[in-house]
Amino acid sequence: MNTASHSIKLLAVFAICAIALPSGTSALTIEPRSSWGAASARSPSRINGAVEYVIIHHSDNPNGCSTSQQCQRLIKNIQTDHKGRRKFSDIGYNFIVAGDGKVYEGRGFGLQGSHAPSYNRKSIGIVFLGNFESSAPSAQMLQNAKDLIELAKQGGHLRSDYTLLGHRQTKATSCPGTALYNEIKTWPRWKEIHLIAYLTSVCAMMNIKVKRQMMNTASHSFKFLAVFAVCAIALSSGTSALTIEPRSSWGAVKARSPSRINGAVEYVIIHHTENPDGCSTSEQCQRLIKNIQTDHKDRRQFSDIGYNFIVAGDGKVYEGRGFGLQGAHAPKYNYRSIGIAFLGNFESSAPSAQMLQKAKDLIELAQQGGYLRSDYTLLGHRQTKATDCPGTALYNEIKTWTHWKQI
Ligand SMILES: [Zn+2]
Ligand SMILES: [Zn+2]
Repeated sequence: MNTASHSIKLLAVFAICAIALPSGTSALTIEPRSSWGAASARSPSRINGAVEYVIIHHSDNPNGCSTSQQCQRLIKNIQTDHKGRRKFSDIGYNFIVAGDGKVYEGRGFGLQGSHAPSYNRKSIGIVFLGNFESSAPSAQMLQNAKDLIELAKQGGHLRSDYTLLGHRQTKATSCPGTALYNEIKTWPRWKEIHLIAYLTSVCAMMNIKVKRQMMNTASHSFKFLAVFAVCAIALSSGTSALTIEPRSSWGAVKARSPSRINGAVEYVIIHHTENPDGCSTSEQCQRLIKNIQTDHKDRRQFSDIGYNFIVAGDGKVYEGRGFGLQGAHAPKYNYRSIGIAFLGNFESSAPSAQMLQKAKDLIELAQQGGYLRSDYTLLGHRQTKATDCPGTALYNEIKTWTHWKQI
């Protein structure tokens, strides 16, 4: 009996593990710039919105690296070379995939790299640390690069119909090495420029056509059903994770690049924007965000909209300053926090369940991306200065979240 009851207990634990593991283990952690001892750098130009290309490089270091200490030293040497000899503003790549099984932040997301002339403004540059002319990177390095590309899409930094290229496709160079190049040629978005764009347009077109025709044309129904099935598969692969609407979605005007934040910050600070009626349609929400940028830049003389992100009543999360850049939303906390604003006034009633969930998803994404410590502290703006923000109803809500602390 004793043994039997133990077996049941063990089985139950295994069942729980089996459910819990797949949801949490696939996430990629990006090692922040501080991990490789990045020297401070001039902020490169911002890139507004999702870019079209991923460009793969190798760093050509003959023996690559296997320990984190070796890898971090190599990355630091690349920054020194790029900044010093080549006069770049910073290390040229957006991200570095290393032989220690880690992904390191170079320039990071949302900032223009210097890795492939005439593509820098419209691409994310990923370098594999080592020389991959005759042998390909490890399976783990390849998987890490794929996870990084997925994260870029989720974060709104990369179009879902992006094109994957090897550096050698953009200029006369042997980069990223023949073995690595042959490998990426087998990845789904390599050179396949038209497929998703075509599918998306077919899906959109069918949506309209079906409304008009499906009822009266029986022979067409089967065709439509087939297309719908394809559309459903294509769309569902991207819908579970949080998507951040890029700055271009709300018509952001160009702004001076705020200071970079190296590494993971300690605080999340919650605000409301105090717009009396909030917004429910994307058109309304986007106009409100644009108005906030105008107010912050012009009247308050900030370099840009003050918040890092905006959670809106249309159920979307919008990029403000985004990740890795210092906000202007809570003096004394700006350089060590991510500022999230709920669009509306939440003094007497809380945001919708959907808005609250999106904010939680965003906080999760910040941790995955290496922008927020796992032991972060959640605060309402009113805890940092004399203000009603984020409204009493929203403040009472966030006080129930796990990382909220009394300070
Ligand atoms: Zn290259
Ligand atoms: Zn506030």
